Amino acid sequence: MASAHVESAESGESGGDKLCEEQRQRVITQKKGGKVEPSDLYKLAQLTTRWAPNKDLPVCLLCQDVSKKPSQLGHIIPYSVLKEAKMEECWDWIRGAVISVKNMGYRAFCPDCEKRFGAGEKFLNPQLFKPFNSNPDNRITVQVQADGFPWLYYSLVSIVWRAMCFIAHNADFLAVLECLRGYLLNWSGPKETEQMNQKTKLFVFAPNTEIENKAEEDAVRVFFYKTFHVRFGGGPTEAARSAWVFCGPLHIYFTYSVDIPKDCELTPKTEEFAIEEKNKRFFPVEMYDEIVKWGRQVLSSSLQLPGAVQSTELDNKSPIEATHLDILPKDVSYNPVNDQFEFNTQIYKQECKPIHHAAFKLVKVSRGRKEKILFIAIRRALKNGGHIAMALSIHGKQLSYLKGFPTDAMKKLVVRVNLDSPPHLDKIVELCNQYGLLE
Ligand SMILES: [Zn+2]
Repeated sequence: MASAHVESAESGESGGDKLCEEQRQRVITQKKGGKVEPSDLYKLAQLTTRWAPNKDLPVCLLCQDVSKKPSQLGHIIPYSVLKEAKMEECWDWIRGAVISVKNMGYRAFCPDCEKRFGAGEKFLNPQLFKPFNSNPDNRITVQVQADGFPWLYYSLVSIVWRAMCFIAHNADFLAVLECLRGYLLNWSGPKETEQMNQKTKLFVFAPNTEIENKAEEDAVRVFFYKTFHVRFGGGPTEAARSAWVFCGPLHIYFTYSVDIPKDCELTPKTEEFAIEEKNKRFFPVEMYDEIVKWGRQVLSSSLQLPGAVQSTELDNKSPIEATHLDILPKDVSYNPVNDQFEFNTQIYKQECKPIHHAAFKLVKVSRGRKEKILFIAIRRALKNGGHIAMALSIHGKQLSYLKGFPTDAMKKLVVRVNLDSPPHLDKIVELCNQYGLLE
């Protein structure tokens, strides 16, 4: 039914930084009132990730005690592990940027809660990761309890939880986050661990011979050996609310429902945990395709690739087809769900109302005093139905890519789109003239 009202032409592109600041103020107000809503704090955590990664959270994410304040940078994947993996920088999938591993964390936990994490983490690298990483083909066994404290279980739950706190759409799994938080905060002995274990399962995998044979392509091997990341929800198995944490060569799988061999399962009661030698290991191969499918999507939508891939490994390999293509600076993103650009309004000033024309969306912005830029999204621009989003410089009546775009890696990833000049440039110029955007 047609509405009698004329739809408002206002379609304010969202300033992610503004949303983040508003959410921060909401949390600060709650803090003054003595109690913070967990859902608001999680929402702030994921906005902070994207828009203010160097800022302190006003309240500690774990204890949420309004009298305590996060102060230092806390890593998601323990720094000792990242250092052991000899990584100096890492592709942060969530932030969409390559960052130094030293900075791969957030100011989100108070000193008391950092101590809680530290109680398990102090064993993690020396006892598990280091011996495994130094010879990842061999069998190792590890005593994973210390004076009744299941340090490996506790550490891995804490890594899963911390990583999940910062990913977009964390509101979709609030109950899971709160379950893990309760465990981490209140652990005092076997009672809590038993309750936790009734709701969740935790597994640890390492790549085996079968996976290695399948993952011959170097771009794919990255997901089994070099990626430090978390992925939550949907797959790899359908039913479960599950999280995969990629921790270099160790993969942590966390879920609510399971059907996986017991010998990979880490329970709070596990006293000795073994990672078998490579050709005797179990890896859920049915999940392999899901990981690879997801990985390819992530790769194809990324502006840059992990350092390790970028240099040589993609050379002489067939390009990966993009599901969508964002030729955008890292402080700009396009959301195809609501057809909106999100950008840092401190940097980009919107010059006029967005233009919608058929599959095209155009937003003119300025950067600094002189620079005029056009954000363009074209829905269904790729043969597989995916969109292209670009930022182009306006020079008089001319449009061209921003300096440095598209990257060589992007060109390799996309098939059937010629990126020598911006796709659909003639049509874009025509629309710009029609709507007076080049004046
Ligand atoms: Zn705390």
